[in-house]
Amino acid sequence: MTASSPASTATAVRDRLRRPLRDLRISVTDRCNFRCVYCMPKEKFGADYQFLERSALLSFEEITRLARLFTQLGIEKIRLTGGEPLVRRGIERLIAMLSEIPGLDLTLTTNGSLLAKKAVALRAAGLQRVTVSLDSLDDSVFKAMNDVDYPVAKVIEGIDAAAAAGFKPVKVNMVVKRGVNEHSILPMAKFFRERGHILRFIEYMDVGATNGWRMDDVVSAREIVDIISRELPLEPADPNYTGEVAERWRYTDGSGEIGVIASVTQAFCRDCTRARISTEGQLYTCLFATSGHDLRTLLRSGASDEALLATIGGVWTAREDRYSEIRGQQTVPLKKIEMSYIGG
Ligand code: SAM
Ligand code: SF4
Ligand code: SF4
Repeated sequence: MTASSPASTATAVRDRLRRPLRDLRISVTDRCNFRCVYCMPKEKFGADYQFLERSALLSFEEITRLARLFTQLGIEKIRLTGGEPLVRRGIERLIAMLSEIPGLDLTLTTNGSLLAKKAVALRAAGLQRVTVSLDSLDDSVFKAMNDVDYPVAKVIEGIDAAAAAGFKPVKVNMVVKRGVNEHSILPMAKFFRERGHILRFIEYMDVGATNGWRMDDVVSAREIVDIISRELPLEPADPNYTGEVAERWRYTDGSGEIGVIASVTQAFCRDCTRARISTEGQLYTCLFATSGHDLRTLLRSGASDEALLATIGGVWTAREDRYSEIRGQQTVPLKKIEMSYIGG
């Protein structure tokens, strides 16, 4: 850790399983211009779906205040997410505000649809890295997955614009769902290897309650590595840091690397250092949490920094989540929160 790292002046906290608080994901909107079948299926998120009122959303000032406080407790990295973060009006202003926090690693995950328009402004505002989600290079497959007829070429345009704006390498997330896009694994690997971007395959997860998840739909990280390796041999690479979510694999010919995020088949709860703040300021200590802790009410009732720090620290200290490790043991179905709300 460097001297300017935010945690260097902090009272770093640990949870009941001795895990520190290191990463924070902030959902800046629950809205999205896509309806990915595994995330915001149209049947649930239709024309009459009630998204949050503007006044319910944390303001940029509230988000920035929380971000500063979280760095005092050990947070080194913040990822802005959603919903689709780039549909939140003025997002560049929020990035500029957050980028003033010393030593903070600031990144964002997007579906790429507004990136061609915004990449330069995001970079200028101080965003350091960007992850773009893309599930196939095949238009018919991708359109069926985003369910709004959005073409692949437009996302590639966004990725190219991001690279040109200085975000290279771009990380690309691909969720793999059996029977839907596993044939896209190899073409995607080849395409992004050639372009020098880092493709990361995500096992389809049972987040939320609307995507009708079944274990049979999961293509395991092991299977994904095997599919690629048969044509483009891979070897394991060391993690960049403890608690890295993606397992790294590099091409043996030195032409780059991929990542696999095996959240279902190889749970990594033991090293999970991630907290999440929902669009309306609920603090969650696990992606699969069934309830959060209301920070917005505290913020809006004039709570002091000390009171907020005590609450957040207390929530983290009491944390014992390890949902992915005990997924199979659940006897009663959990009332889980949707990914687009909690922030993926
Ligand atoms: N809208 C942005 C996007 O799609 O990149 C950010 C929010 S999205 C919820 C964040 C990430 O979660 C995306 O890479 C998406 O593919 C992934 N995701 C959503 N639902 C998922 C699921 N059921 N299983 C695995 N990953 C999922
Ligand atoms: Fe929107 Fe991202 Fe969810 Fe797709 S994965 S519906 S782009 S929030
Ligand atoms: Fe972290 Fe919860 Fe995912 Fe386990 S299930 S890795 S504790 S977010």
